[in-house]
Amino acid sequence: MAGVYLSYPFCAQKCTYCNFASGVQPRELEREYLDALREEIESANWPWTPKTVYLGGGTPSQMEPGILAEILKLIPGRPWMEATIETAPGSLTPAKARAWRDGGINRVSLGVQSFEPRELARTGRKHTAEIVAQEIAMLREQGLANFNLDLIAGLPGQTRESWRRSLDWIERLDPPHVSVYMLEIDEDSRLGAEVLALGRRYGAPEVPSEEAIAEFYETAVAHLSKLGIARYEISNFARPGSESKHNLKYWRREPYLGFGADAHSFDGATRWQNAETAAAYVERRARGLPFATEIAPAQPGEAFFLGLRLEQGMEADWAPYEGAMRRFELDGLVEREGNRARLTPRGVLLSNEVFTEFV
Ligand code: SF4
Repeated sequence: MAGVYLSYPFCAQKCTYCNFASGVQPRELEREYLDALREEIESANWPWTPKTVYLGGGTPSQMEPGILAEILKLIPGRPWMEATIETAPGSLTPAKARAWRDGGINRVSLGVQSFEPRELARTGRKHTAEIVAQEIAMLREQGLANFNLDLIAGLPGQTRESWRRSLDWIERLDPPHVSVYMLEIDEDSRLGAEVLALGRRYGAPEVPSEEAIAEFYETAVAHLSKLGIARYEISNFARPGSESKHNLKYWRREPYLGFGADAHSFDGATRWQNAETAAAYVERRARGLPFATEIAPAQPGEAFFLGLRLEQGMEADWAPYEGAMRRFELDGLVEREGNRARLTPRGVLLSNEVFTEFV
């Protein structure tokens, strides 16, 4: 089942924790970017008809609905089995929702991250819990009942109690799908760089400890499971049948074509990646260069670390990694039954230790 990813790396603000090549950028660049994006899609060879579409970035929900509809028309296969748009809560309107639905979108992902006013204010996000509740009611009225809510465990100032209140909002809003990410600390986000530099901006001194973040994550796993929203991948949870068909492709190594800045593609054997920033993407078009800047054969070990991200694990011939797998079993990170291996709950928390073995 093949899919399409479209990247729109423009946002109304730059969130402090964000480590993507996206943010507030000039209108002129946005216009040139959309022209380049159309050109890239129009010149694509379609070896298959896509079943899923995913609009990410960035904040594709801030794209003018008429332009979005035009771009969606360039993609074959409508009606798609699943077509998701990532959105910034606080900016959804009935007119946008109708336009998305009429353009073939049938799933909406809301980057909520937290329901706590203090945590949201520090990250730069503009919404409140009440606004999210109103927007979800509106999406349901517009026939877009298939939605995802993103949460981040580890925002500055987050406590056991505030995390619990965010989970209570999840219970109230009754989503079919939830993603829970543990905060990533790296140089690519303003918050991450500040933490690494031992600075004080963006609430850096109040980022919870690794142990606390792990505890928040595990509380979420238990709470969501009680609500019937089960983990199917390390960061993804769904009611039965509401798992993201598009995202499952990444872990099952099904083919996808990515368009736009930093978009990745995979044809089953080769991976390639477009220029990382909107400016570099537009520049490559102006210079008549291909949009892809990196192309490489798929790594031999990638099937293993991608498959192990799934709750059900994967069946494989583990012989090339037998020594490492035995060690992981002894350390309580992996469990095996026949050829099927999966991460244990402890292995999920220490998954990077396991995955590096296959890279
Ligand atoms: S987190 Fe989302 S909305 Fe915020 S800057 Fe990053 S891509 Fe944009």
